[in-house]
Amino acid sequence: MSKDKQFVSEITPQGEDFSRWYIDVIKKAELMDYSPVRGCIVFRPDGYEIWEHIKDELDRRFKETGHRNAYFPLFIPESFFQKEKEHVEGFNPELPWVTEAGGEILEERLAIRPTSETMIGHMYSKWIHSYRDLPVLINQWANVVRWEKRTLPFLRTSEFLWQEGHTAHENEGEAREETMRMLETYRSFVEDYLAIPVISGEKTPSERFAGAVDTYSIEAMMKDGRAVQAGTSHYLGNKFAVAFDIKFLDRDNQLQFAHTTSWGVSTRLIGSLIMVHGDDRGLVLPPKVAPTQVIMIPIGPPKTRDAVIARVDELYGELKKAGVRVRVDDRSDMSPGWKFNEYEMRGVPIRLELGPRDMENGVCVLVSRVSGEKRVVNQSDLTDEIQSMLEEIHRDMFEKAKSFREENTHAVDTLDEMKALLDQKRGFVTAGWCGSAACEKQVKEETSATSRNIPFEPAERKATCLVCGEKAEHTVVFARAY
Ligand SMILES: [Zn+2]
Repeated sequence: MSKDKQFVSEITPQGEDFSRWYIDVIKKAELMDYSPVRGCIVFRPDGYEIWEHIKDELDRRFKETGHRNAYFPLFIPESFFQKEKEHVEGFNPELPWVTEAGGEILEERLAIRPTSETMIGHMYSKWIHSYRDLPVLINQWANVVRWEKRTLPFLRTSEFLWQEGHTAHENEGEAREETMRMLETYRSFVEDYLAIPVISGEKTPSERFAGAVDTYSIEAMMKDGRAVQAGTSHYLGNKFAVAFDIKFLDRDNQLQFAHTTSWGVSTRLIGSLIMVHGDDRGLVLPPKVAPTQVIMIPIGPPKTRDAVIARVDELYGELKKAGVRVRVDDRSDMSPGWKFNEYEMRGVPIRLELGPRDMENGVCVLVSRVSGEKRVVNQSDLTDEIQSMLEEIHRDMFEKAKSFREENTHAVDTLDEMKALLDQKRGFVTAGWCGSAACEKQVKEETSATSRNIPFEPAERKATCLVCGEKAEHTVVFARAY
């Protein structure tokens, strides 16, 4: 067996065991490691840097839409959770509690935040008195804890990183507008930045956030056909305002409850982009979040080595100056072949090769991670060539993921048809639904697929409910989900 083949065999093929593939890849590419605390992972520098790029761009977009960041405490008094009944029922099983501190038993237990609606609601009631105080548009970047029974790195861990936006408004119209604006912010970010096509839509009542009036989501298809909820935006009506007494004097001097929203995305996005784009050779990272966008590898015999490396260093300087995230691997104890495999596995979008003959001709070779295409370009145009190739790679990745989703989405008329389909094929199923929770529950029990959302723009509308055959109120996307 050649060295190259040995190397790739350390990653389980996707077709053999997708979950195994996922774990092999994220460990081997050093994105994460397991920690001694059950269900909690360590984000290693390459994994964390992906999150930093996600965070930086989202933060910019939030600020562009008028939001500001603040920070609220990690500990939440138990009594806060009793104030909104549905909210406490939804989160209670997953809450870890602090009962003792400083050598004393606490008078009131403190929950470690699973989400901050309660704490923020409490604070907003102190800050909001008049319509002049509204809207309040605040976002928080934080860690949250939900004691999960089954965990999967990045996609479901007991502690994870996220952002949670919390806003308060004068009336329903403005709050609903905000809810949709942030859903659209997520959709455009995930598509434009992570090259993941998503389906925007409304959650069915049984899949709503605990305590929300309406929940909206963006849903993405992984390469094994399962769904990931990539982001959510909730219209909370005045449920939390009533529970936490967020009242204000309106323009007619009448006391009103505020209308609130909340919205979030998390480090699940990292798991999603790996599962959407990766292949049997390893990671395929979207250029806009890749910690390394270009890896430069000098090649050729030892006698020309110094001259080649000197030229590579000059080109490195030019790319770096232009803002490209570029690295050089000039180790002499590793073969170029080994390096090619290594950076393919790590998902680096572009490999740049430079050898003595390229030096003579004033060119270098660029290789795309996603298509494998090799391009010989003039060194004098390198920065422009790299920038346009990164754009192309992004578009290729998006189109590839979109075609995959379309090929693996099937419309059905009946539950039997859906069962037969899911026995043989992976993917999303669209079907009509009458709106009854019983029919939705039956789908879940018999197929283990859940309703993902009611898409705003379904490819095809269905006339009847797949379970009871009555008139369909909605067309729903169902899928097995992470
Ligand atoms: Zn029905």
